Amino acid sequence: MDNAKAVAVEAVAASERKMVDSLKDMVKIPAISPLSGGKGESARADMLESLISGFGIKVRRYDYVDDSKAKRSNLIATYGGAKSTLWVISHIDTVAPGDLALWDHDPFDPVEKDGKIYGRGTTDDGQSAIGSIYALKALIDAKAQPRYNFGVCLAADEEVGSEYGIKRLLKENIFGKDDLILVPDFGTSDGMSIEIAEKGVLWLRITAVGKQVHASTPDLGVNAYRAMIRLLYEIDRVLHGKYNAKNPLFSSDYSTFEMTKHEANVESTNIVPGKEVSYMDCRILPEYKIDDILNTINEAASKVGADTGAKFKVEIFNREDPAPPTKSDSKVAVELANAIKSLRNKEPKFIGIGGGTVAKHFRDENIPAAAWETCEDIAHIPNEYCKIADMVEDAKVFAYMAL
Ligand SMILES: [Zn+2]
Repeated sequence: MDNAKAVAVEAVAASERKMVDSLKDMVKIPAISPLSGGKGESARADMLESLISGFGIKVRRYDYVDDSKAKRSNLIATYGGAKSTLWVISHIDTVAPGDLALWDHDPFDPVEKDGKIYGRGTTDDGQSAIGSIYALKALIDAKAQPRYNFGVCLAADEEVGSEYGIKRLLKENIFGKDDLILVPDFGTSDGMSIEIAEKGVLWLRITAVGKQVHASTPDLGVNAYRAMIRLLYEIDRVLHGKYNAKNPLFSSDYSTFEMTKHEANVESTNIVPGKEVSYMDCRILPEYKIDDILNTINEAASKVGADTGAKFKVEIFNREDPAPPTKSDSKVAVELANAIKSLRNKEPKFIGIGGGTVAKHFRDENIPAAAWETCEDIAHIPNEYCKIADMVEDAKVFAYMAL
């Protein structure tokens, strides 16, 4: 390891206690979307802004006011005089704590135990937010001259769609096409999986309307339940047959089309239901277009509708079109893999996942983005925690990549 890298990595290691204290300070200030009953990120951003300002650099703040009049706050800080920037994109909002009875401690009064910190938002995405802040500090303290500027982006609103976070920031001329985007908001416990592709997501509500009658005289009605069964069977058959590509990046290496929830229909066994509502969760490989899949579903609905006499309505209530994957030889993928290999003596692998990080929004803009961190799979659960070692070791990777 060259000297500058060694100095920065050492500086990160030396700030472990401060990182722990900052993470605790941060977790104490709730930052939940008003859509989930919270007040937004503004108070938490105040705390982080003064923390970073204390390093002697300017923090740019982007406050957006949402429909509930809450301030949704995003922070940007950069260091270095290079041409392009390595951005570490984390988010400072969290989900709600859920049922408090399931927590061993107050989710907003963090507890440190056995090398872990417990509290809401410690792993998702606190450890990365704090890690990126202290990687920045390490570079400043070391007076480093990084190959890439180091950019800390602390975004709002990730848990509820990023409308007041990354989606807005992408319109502010902050990120350049040559920048490297690292999103430490997906991880594995061994830290050896670099996510470079995500499936598209499509959630559907399908309604069948028939005619309700007594079950002894079904000929007088149209059984919406039977029509729905036929439609779902047809959709299952046609979608899996037509969109059957495999992509080895993904652990489920094909597009998934799953029937999930359905709504209760009639109260009695002797009633033919006149209405049936079912739901589907589809995760679509980047090889396919969601419009094509919707066309296929609508064709099936017309066909089964004509056969059964039922009327179908197909509604979309969540849609994320798949973005083009980031190439494994893109700068961010290569620099990240090199940093992991150098610091951990192991070769990471590139993978795809079923959707869910803001890396997608960068890929949509043709800016390569990789999602990576080291963490347990415990986001959103009660007694969420992060391992202090993961926070510190990942921060070393962030700093190393810039040098
Ligand atoms: Zn997250």
